[in-house]
Amino acid sequence: MTEVLNQLFIGGAWVDAADGATMPVDDPATGEILCHVADAGPKDAKLAEEAAVQAQREWARTAPRARSEILRRAYEIIIERTDELAHLMTSEMGKPLAEAKGEVAYAAEFFRWFSEEAVRIDGGCATLPDGRNRMLLSRRPVGPCLLITPWNFPLAMGTRKIGPAIAAGCTMILKPAPQTPLSSLALAGILKEAGLPDGVLNIVTTSRAGEVCEPLLRGGRIRKLSFTGSTGVGRILLAQCADTVVRTSMELGGNAPFIVFDDADLDVAVDGAMVAKMRNMGEACTAANRFFVHRSVAEEFGRRLAERMGALVVGPGTRDGVDVGPLIDRTGRGKVEELVADAVERGARVLVGGRTPEGPGCFYPPTVLTDVSAESRLMDTEIFGPVAAILTFDDEDEVLSRANDTQWGLVGYVFTQGLDRGLRVSEGLEVGMVGLNTGLVSNPAAPFGGVKQSGLGREGGRVGIDEFLEYQYVAVPVR
Ligand code: NAP
Repeated sequence: MTEVLNQLFIGGAWVDAADGATMPVDDPATGEILCHVADAGPKDAKLAEEAAVQAQREWARTAPRARSEILRRAYEIIIERTDELAHLMTSEMGKPLAEAKGEVAYAAEFFRWFSEEAVRIDGGCATLPDGRNRMLLSRRPVGPCLLITPWNFPLAMGTRKIGPAIAAGCTMILKPAPQTPLSSLALAGILKEAGLPDGVLNIVTTSRAGEVCEPLLRGGRIRKLSFTGSTGVGRILLAQCADTVVRTSMELGGNAPFIVFDDADLDVAVDGAMVAKMRNMGEACTAANRFFVHRSVAEEFGRRLAERMGALVVGPGTRDGVDVGPLIDRTGRGKVEELVADAVERGARVLVGGRTPEGPGCFYPPTVLTDVSAESRLMDTEIFGPVAAILTFDDEDEVLSRANDTQWGLVGYVFTQGLDRGLRVSEGLEVGMVGLNTGLVSNPAAPFGGVKQSGLGREGGRVGIDEFLEYQYVAVPVR
């Protein structure tokens, strides 16, 4: 493994926090401290802001091809270093190495995708309806951005924002989650190596998110916030952005319904459930949270899912053959334990799992609950752990209205062999994304995002770059 970067990255230089503060990064598989990183305060945030503001003008003028090539080089470096980046991610976040390698490829793909989009920023020229006036339409970078990311996909949540910001010509400050700063710092090192000019990307690791970010959002120099995290924090940040009318993109929480109809291919549905539930140990905004299974197939579906979940190997993500790593920390695991206890108290049966193992690390076993009451807390709380909660339904209208009965609307999954029904139910779900007979929707080429309180805007796809661009229209009368 190469040297672990642990300082702030400001104006192209690696620096300590102004007051010399540091914070620990833990290994969730052992509970031991891996290393310390700089713990920035408001002073450091100001320096990062100054660097981003100073670099903005020149960076906006850079040729799109130059921006594209930096992203392309960074993509190639990430792919070359897949193994070491995956090890770093597993050590700070816990996911098994195979999944970490998958995330490295997914993360890199955002750079390749946006390297291709950087040179396709369009504009236009049109004759207006009066026949005399012309309209010149161009697209410009929004300006300096603040990017805030969660811990669950330490590399991909960064590249999904940094990629389009670079492609659009924006400078930025990235504040990663305190649990997983190392992947973001490694990314900064890679982008520097790929030729990114000083000040375009600045990274501020901190344990004092509010103190560091609020002055930036209220200061009037940051023009855009792109946030991925919980709906609760998203609301706070939206309020902070309101005073200075900062543009926002919000990728927030989910409460995904996973619907299995009586005509579903159960092998396909169980395969889909394993991905939709167990990707990232269930610590994903896209994780299936509520399994609605038609009464006539619920028992068989539950039996097969419990068999597959029970066969998974739980252990440290770096160990060969491990399928399920630890949860991020004791708080995260405690929440899962409480949700399961609440469901069981309200009558749920545990088909497999449900018991926290002894010993160090934040492990929790793959768990399947059936006969779950609609009153259980996990019905309107993101479980964020390897727990599948099964409820039954009798007909299509009923399941649609129950699936939509939530403040969230990120993703839903539908399993049926009927094309009509599949499309009808997909269209009836109040969500931004649907997996129809699949448990995986994430793809850099697709617009990722939610409706209702799951967010505003989209990341990835052809529209991902739009979040970092403004239109400017020039009126030209022709006499
Ligand atoms: P979180 O608690 O909302 O934190 C997300 C980020 O926001 C972290 O970097 C956090 O830093 C920071 N933050 C918290 N309070 C802040 C404040 N007042 N000002 C500025 N920054 C602040 O979420 P999480 O536990 O890290 O991640 C899990 C959540 O993310 C889930 O709800 C999940 O669904 C969601 N998520 C959504 C998507 C999506 O694309 N829709 C993708 C992945 C995850 P601190 O930890 O230091 O507070």
